[in-house]
Amino acid sequence: MSQLVTVNNFIDGKFVTTKEYLDSFDPSTGQVWARVSNSSADEVDTAVQAAEKAFPQWSVTPVEQRSKLMLKIADLIEARLDEFAEVESHDQGKPVSLAKRIDIPRLIHNFRYFATYCLHDLNSSTVQLEASATNYTVKCPVGVAGLISPWNLPLYLLSFKIAPAIACGNTVVAKPSEMTSVSTQLLCQVFQEAGVPKGVINIVYGYGWTAGTALVEHPRVPLISFTGGTATGEVIRKSAAHLNKRFSLELGGKNPAIIFDDCSFEKCVETTIRSSFVNQGEVCLCTSRIFVQRGIYEKFLEAFVAKAKALVVGDPKDPNTFCGALISKQHREKVVGYIEGARSGGATIRCGHGVEHLSLPDRCQNGYFVQPTVISDLPDSAPAMMDEIFGPVTCVVPFDDEAEVIQRANSVRYGLCATLWTENVSRVHRMSPKLESATIWVNCWLVRDLNMPFGGMKDSGTGKEGGKYSTEFFTQEKTICIQH
Ligand code: NAD
Repeated sequence: MSQLVTVNNFIDGKFVTTKEYLDSFDPSTGQVWARVSNSSADEVDTAVQAAEKAFPQWSVTPVEQRSKLMLKIADLIEARLDEFAEVESHDQGKPVSLAKRIDIPRLIHNFRYFATYCLHDLNSSTVQLEASATNYTVKCPVGVAGLISPWNLPLYLLSFKIAPAIACGNTVVAKPSEMTSVSTQLLCQVFQEAGVPKGVINIVYGYGWTAGTALVEHPRVPLISFTGGTATGEVIRKSAAHLNKRFSLELGGKNPAIIFDDCSFEKCVETTIRSSFVNQGEVCLCTSRIFVQRGIYEKFLEAFVAKAKALVVGDPKDPNTFCGALISKQHREKVVGYIEGARSGGATIRCGHGVEHLSLPDRCQNGYFVQPTVISDLPDSAPAMMDEIFGPVTCVVPFDDEAEVIQRANSVRYGLCATLWTENVSRVHRMSPKLESATIWVNCWLVRDLNMPFGGMKDSGTGKEGGKYSTEFFTQEKTICIQH
């Protein structure tokens, strides 16, 4: 067996050991491949102290200088893109090809985007002249930012928090998911090499209920940006309710695709395959309820199932693989439980788990794989239609008219995103405001413009990130009033 990788905390510019370590598994083999720091509350506190110490200097470092450093970070990651993609895949189970095409380029883009965005946004101020007074505002960094991220898009999402936080002059203590910590270690090497001043970015690893809680409840961390499950978001909100913190909570989803009979059919099928199954369906924005207008229901189902069956599931290292392994054994059991539950409730499993035979290379025999699964003939009240499964599973159901489908699409607790497929522009304008989703993609999916607000409504979250929304979150805008 190859030697285990050790992942140590990164505090005050140095890699530091912890008292305890946890096991991290390679999802494609089911084998332990890394030992990751499992930080105690005291070890988290050491990181907060380092961030506090660095804040006075970093917060007054000219934004141009911060920007230059972040551009250097982006360049250094780009020079190691293949290595980053391989580690991200090894840790998460996603195909290396996907990490090369999406995750790591987006990690680089997040640093470049906020490095340049802040140059223009932070220096501006609003001046209002009155007869007796002049008012203006300044945007100031808030302090030590606590950042907590999930396992599905590890560096992609972590960098969407670190980049705006430091660009705005905050210092950071970040905690990645305990299941996907290894790639963050590469990022810390880059921070060292780029010359990030000590204590500006600190990374602590460990379980949510220990290291995560210690960060959330730390009295000197005034701001928490969290991405993860809705249940965890609720725990966090409650556990820090008495502390008056600023929160951004990006939570789960149960996203509908609504497909009308006038849609561009081929493009719709192709994109909905991607929106349902990319990254093994482990993207918060993945489609998991597909409402198809009755006139094209059978035609859609046939084309969609044929394409789902053709997706290659297997070794993440194989360039032909579309779906790699799910994150963990427990998560695989949860996903399979929903499929089995739907089957025993009378639904039809059109393809996927339990229907086809999965052929895997030897090294992946104990990996956590599930085939893309399409379920039909189930009521909207079925758990597979109501709950976030977060795997390669999607449900397809028919509908008749606009009013009906709006009501059905809105019938879940989540409100993250929806996709709408129609060539009728009036319908787009009529329906979009009525859909209870914070992002609505029309005839496309996951086309992301970082200037746009990103976040959830209902139980999908609180707060917005992206462009000015991130800088609003990561700064305190102060009003200064001078009487003449
Ligand atoms: P999770 O909530 O289990 O964990 C997320 C992070 O929170 C991890 O780092 C974890 O260690 C930490 N954590 C857990 N309990 C904590 C606690 N009590 N206090 C502080 N931190 C704690 O989520 P996950 O399983 O890692 O990720 C999957 C979920 O994330 C899905 O629900 C998915 O929809 C959601 N997600 C949302 C978005 C979005 O932008 N809305 C993006 C990606 C993923």
